Amino acid sequence: MRRIDCHVHLVGDGSSGTGCRFRTPNLLRSLAARYLLRTTGLPTSVLQGGLDEAYVAKLLSSVKASSIDAAVLLAMDMPRSDEGQVLEKESNFYVPNERVLELGVEYEEFIPACSIHPGRPDAMDELEKCIAGGAKVMKLLPNCHNANCSDPAFRPFWERMAKANMAFLAHTGGEYTIPVLNKAYADPRVLHLPAECGVTTIAAHGAGRSGLIDPDYTCELIKMFSNYPNLFADNSALATPNRWRTIKKLLPREVCSRVLHGSDYPVPSGGFGPWVGRLLKWRHFRTISREPNTIERDALLKKAIGFPEETFTKLDGLLSD
Ligand SMILES: [Zn+2]
Repeated sequence: MRRIDCHVHLVGDGSSGTGCRFRTPNLLRSLAARYLLRTTGLPTSVLQGGLDEAYVAKLLSSVKASSIDAAVLLAMDMPRSDEGQVLEKESNFYVPNERVLELGVEYEEFIPACSIHPGRPDAMDELEKCIAGGAKVMKLLPNCHNANCSDPAFRPFWERMAKANMAFLAHTGGEYTIPVLNKAYADPRVLHLPAECGVTTIAAHGAGRSGLIDPDYTCELIKMFSNYPNLFADNSALATPNRWRTIKKLLPREVCSRVLHGSDYPVPSGGFGPWVGRLLKWRHFRTISREPNTIERDALLKKAIGFPEETFTKLDGLLSD
């Protein structure tokens, strides 16, 4: 069984003709982008050009040098209106499906995850294209893409995904790095239709709080586990100071059997939050924070916190069933 990191973002600027887009519309977002890049070890000069190639090279070498065998590499569709039209102004972060499919063919370390808003007029065609191109996962942020995943009109879309055994990774809980268009879709209960249709559905971040005041849906997600054996959570970004509280709810054995390992790369993972929350011993925190490889550091942190080995390997079985 391969050890998989199920939540790794691809970021690019289109400088190599990839069609990727990464715009920082204000100073705060630009500073945040510089900080993220620096923590991965990339020079911030790549924000002036060359991000496409530099990002992939850095990520690939990080995965290769880590104890992780493969990373689920995420495309990023554009948000849509309720009528299915692209919301251009809100589309600052975009990664076309073609780009992750290409990288999936080129490198065995990458498992391509397409991103398709099911309300797109061409959603079914795009899904067929991605299935044929080798996509194993489909990723959305329902609250940021403005996607009502349980709209009955989308049933054929989820049924096709289930038939192709393509997993659905859905952001759940609040979000700060990109604009939220519909807060209600942060609730994991909006995922009931894909889960009902038999899609392996993964609620990213365990549906927990992303800050101090946004709603916490982890308990709702755990309740849903008893109705849907094909529903999972990922532990991505949970070793951060703003999300570590969710970890406590995911660690009990019966819940943990539904948890999959994810980092949310390039989101930095330092372990300070889990240490404050007494989930991590001081000596582990000290040793692991010296690990320069972000992918490896997050994996070491999750292990030291107590996430069992099966959280790393389970997805491989789910994708090949
Ligand atoms: Zn993410």
